[in-house]
Amino acid sequence: MRITAVGGYEEVGRNMTAIKIGGDTIIVEMGIRLDRVMVHEDTDISKMGKSELASKGIIPDDSVVRGDVKAIILTHGHLDHIGAVTILAKKYKNAPIIGTRFTTELIKKEQNFGRLKNPVHTLDTGDILQITPEIGIEFVRMTHSIPHTAMLVVHTKEGKLVYANDFKLDDTPVIGEPPDYRRIKELGSEGIKCMIVETTRVLDGGRTPSEKIAEILVRDNLKKSDPEKGLIVTTFSSQIARIKSITEAASAIGRTPVLLGRSMEKYVGLAEKTEILNLPEDAHLYGAPDAIRKSLKTISDDGREKYLLIVTGHQGEPDALLSKISLRKLAYKIKKDDQVIFSATVIPNPINVANRYSLETKLRLQGARIFKDVHVSGHAYREDHSDLLKMLQPEKIIPCHGDLKMLTSYVELAEDHGYQFNRDIFLLRNGQSVTT
Ligand SMILES: [Zn+2]
Repeated sequence: MRITAVGGYEEVGRNMTAIKIGGDTIIVEMGIRLDRVMVHEDTDISKMGKSELASKGIIPDDSVVRGDVKAIILTHGHLDHIGAVTILAKKYKNAPIIGTRFTTELIKKEQNFGRLKNPVHTLDTGDILQITPEIGIEFVRMTHSIPHTAMLVVHTKEGKLVYANDFKLDDTPVIGEPPDYRRIKELGSEGIKCMIVETTRVLDGGRTPSEKIAEILVRDNLKKSDPEKGLIVTTFSSQIARIKSITEAASAIGRTPVLLGRSMEKYVGLAEKTEILNLPEDAHLYGAPDAIRKSLKTISDDGREKYLLIVTGHQGEPDALLSKISLRKLAYKIKKDDQVIFSATVIPNPINVANRYSLETKLRLQGARIFKDVHVSGHAYREDHSDLLKMLQPEKIIPCHGDLKMLTSYVELAEDHGYQFNRDIFLLRNGQSVTT
């Protein structure tokens, strides 16, 4: 079994791994690096060529992939895992794209999906699919911050490989069920040859708080809000469990939830279609610019205190709705003591930090009260990583989805569990391979 680090092995983003068994290869994820997209925001990435996108570090460089690619497997629908599919999958046109329902439906919504010839196959968690006589894949139910996240198990004659990128261990996830601990422990007792594991939050001690905690934080903040002032919440559009908590809390305080933004419509609309989410009956959801403008005008005229706005733009992205509101470009203008709740943390790269600073300053200068970090992470903290390690007890480990600091921190954690660097835990740079 030869594992090639294609992308995401020296950074947070553009995840892609190739696993070659005999002459056959399966690819896991085809992601983009969102911070690099923002650096090049003036360029339309759909117009950029593949090699240019790779050289700018936006998509993985798949020239290192060897073997006959038999499948492209996607473990969840975040863009740093699926955002490059419409650019890269063309080259492997006979390979089916395989994911859980929410993920495959998202792929079908991608702008250039029509240009792909690859068949798309939905695989539920708990099911095993035989790709070739030698390779079977299994999705194990896992929790993260987007519906239908799976942990991948690759079954081969040489042993099993587990791919846990991304995950958290959430026993009260608000939407969906807790991780399938029974199966995870069973896999551990059957024996795991190798585990590829994310490291994004391994530097944080303890356990990741449950999404249930975020629900309580949201409810508490909304309950204590000033009923006579405007109220805006911003969060990740794909964080459907959070959106459920926010809309329900809005109804509980007698405000009509109004969800606004292009990506809000994309993810929340799909969650409703796939019956993952049922918005309260009085909720509104608009994604098109004209519909958004009209809705904001109605809210301003009717009385902002009757509504709760749920908008895109928690990272301060210049083209997202909250930034536009802060620029006073729309009918809904911030008034003194209007409340803005960030149900998200700043993803720590310099661009986001700068954008968020600028956004918050503008809002504050217009008199807004700002409530930050009403949020819990979707990624495993250090002790969750320890728990997964104890349950699975893999022979070999390859940490991924992190910068050097995160990756080496995971190495130290594994060393505490008796693993030895370069004997049973390996660090790869993008483009490098290891045979296990
Ligand atoms: Zn993710």
